[in-house]
Amino acid sequence: MAMKSLHDLFVHTLRDIYHAEKQGLKAMRQMSRKVTSPELKSLLETHHEETEHQVEELEHVFESLSMRPRGTNCEAVHGLLEEARELMEEAADDRTRDAGIVAAVQAVEHYEIARYGTLVAWGEALGHSDAVEALRRIRDQEMATDQKLSELAEDTLNPAADTGEGEDGGATDGTAPTQVEAEAIEEETAEQDEPVDAMADVKENAELADAEQEDGEDEGVVDLGEERSGRSGKRGKGRGKRAA
Ligand code: FE
Ligand code: FE
Ligand code: FE
Repeated sequence: MAMKSLHDLFVHTLRDIYHAEKQGLKAMRQMSRKVTSPELKSLLETHHEETEHQVEELEHVFESLSMRPRGTNCEAVHGLLEEARELMEEAADDRTRDAGIVAAVQAVEHYEIARYGTLVAWGEALGHSDAVEALRRIRDQEMATDQKLSELAEDTLNPAADTGEGEDGGATDGTAPTQVEAEAIEEETAEQDEPVDAMADVKENAELADAEQEDGEDEGVVDLGEERSGRSGKRGKGRGKRAA
């Protein structure tokens, strides 16, 4: 969709965050199953409930603009959830995983805060006062969640994860890497930094978003582990290429 005005940007971003919230709902449920800390589990469950209401609020925002609620693919949240999935797979123990899950959820919260901040500003400029009120309410909820996650991590989860035991069970001594290790790290980093054809992705994503606009579909989620077999068919839409 060509964007020619602030209104177009506003609608596009509203669809983006609507899609992101729905992905977040599925992801939070999957993540909370992998959480060990009861406090973190309850925090995620509470935010899951809040998010269900946020989705409804967003639907009311669409309606207040005489539009049908519809999502458009949010690559950012797919990327963040893909990172979350990797992190959960790689965490070697429960406490490390809990600390990592907090960081993963906070990355999504920060994305949401950025998007709602923009939507509030654009909504104000466009004079959508009802929408602005709802968007501000959601943004405040995201900020409060982010704050609670920080407190839980700093007070409890980070100290618990800081046991000094690595994956191999050996204590880390906190010393700098040896020359050989440093070279290995450097090599690894150099490999990862190889340039990719960024434009190819941009083009493909634009096509994806357009395709999704046309059929109004709002499916497809980065699977965080448990529902892989049943869900794989729904990933479609070119996101399969990331499965490698
Ligand atoms: Fe949200
Ligand atoms: Fe997005
Ligand atoms: Fe949130």
